[in-house]
Amino acid sequence: MDFFNYKNNELYAEDLAVTDLADQYGSPLYIYSKATLVRHMNAFKEALAKKRHLICYAVKANSSLSILALMASLGAGFDVVSEGELRRVIKAGGDPKKVVFSGVGKTAHEIAFALEQGIDCFNIESVPEINAISSVAKSLGKKARVSVRVNPNVDAKTHPSISTGLKSNKFGIAYDEALAVYRQMAADPNLEICGIDCHIGSQMTSGAPILEATERLLDLYKELTECGIKIDHIDIGGGLGVTYGDETPPSPYEYMSAVINRLKDLDISIYVEPGRAMVANAGILVTKALYLKKGSVKNFCIVDAGMNDLIRPALYNSWMNIVEVKKHQDAKVDLYDVVGPVCESDDFLGKERKLAVSAGEYLAVRGAGAYGSSMSSNYNSRLLCAEILVDKNKSYVIRKRQDFSQLWENESIAGL
Ligand SMILES: *Cc1c(COP(=O)(O)O)cnc(C)c1O
Repeated sequence: MDFFNYKNNELYAEDLAVTDLADQYGSPLYIYSKATLVRHMNAFKEALAKKRHLICYAVKANSSLSILALMASLGAGFDVVSEGELRRVIKAGGDPKKVVFSGVGKTAHEIAFALEQGIDCFNIESVPEINAISSVAKSLGKKARVSVRVNPNVDAKTHPSISTGLKSNKFGIAYDEALAVYRQMAADPNLEICGIDCHIGSQMTSGAPILEATERLLDLYKELTECGIKIDHIDIGGGLGVTYGDETPPSPYEYMSAVINRLKDLDISIYVEPGRAMVANAGILVTKALYLKKGSVKNFCIVDAGMNDLIRPALYNSWMNIVEVKKHQDAKVDLYDVVGPVCESDDFLGKERKLAVSAGEYLAVRGAGAYGSSMSSNYNSRLLCAEILVDKNKSYVIRKRQDFSQLWENESIAGL
């Protein structure tokens, strides 16, 4: 559930009319609802209340400083995948001691920075990475806390591009190798084993795959305990899906209760790394219809937001709900491909949508809070959009629209 609702046929973000916000701040525009973010964080807290836990918000889903600061104020930790993300967390007032560091390509510089900040844990994704972390830790005279991202070979039954827990994926260490890897780490004086980790995919709309992965982690936990290797947390990753169209994902409570039930008797913390489920439905992308181009085989609604602002449809063929910001009662509905201004055939936000829209009116892409602005780019030398956060009847600019000089601020005209 979110706080973007219609009142008198007008879409509202909490208590503010989206049309007024777009008129005031310009289009395209990302709008986030604070109440929705708080609600989602609380849903995860309630789901985990019965067990020692850490909710590590996955920064890559939306790395806006204001959203990170809000999450930190609600007690969240963070899952980061780069030094840039860790620096954002620190800048936003997040506690590095509640940070886990995932990703297959951590550089020596990133590892050193994370160790100096005292992060909670590195989620190890390959054997060579263990050696890299060990040697950086040794050179700094520190012990690195580590957890292995185990690849449990479980099918998350999601889109192939966002499935990560199969043997064929680049992520994690194969389940069959994990025990030997833990033994190697246990013998390394520069490392301190703290957990077991997995992240099997994204946009999962059933709890079955994560329960299956939990069973495998539990088997590994037992084997490690028998070898005298102490585990303090089990991290089940992120991946809980959201409703973009007709999906009916479980609530965080439903998703987690079977997992918690399996782990309740162990003296461990449960870590989770939700990204999408936390922010997707807390954000919309507002865009203006520029031109209606009627063709013999297709109608196009050309809008002022493109794949550089929101790439999910172009990248994963994701279906995202596109709605009229103002609904007209008896307006004529047509079928449109909603496309952006970027010079690429794949630059679309939605295909074959029934819309009653005229040029100059606003549309909103719902569920755009996750993997929207964080994946945006300057392609076609388009400016990164403004982003605002709404709290009841107040709105705050959390990122100004870029200005043109920022497009080339790091460039020089040289070598002529
Ligand atoms: C992307 C990612 C997440 C978050 O995934 P969601 O599907 O957005 O919940 C969590 N953990 C890791 C390691 C990730 O790469």
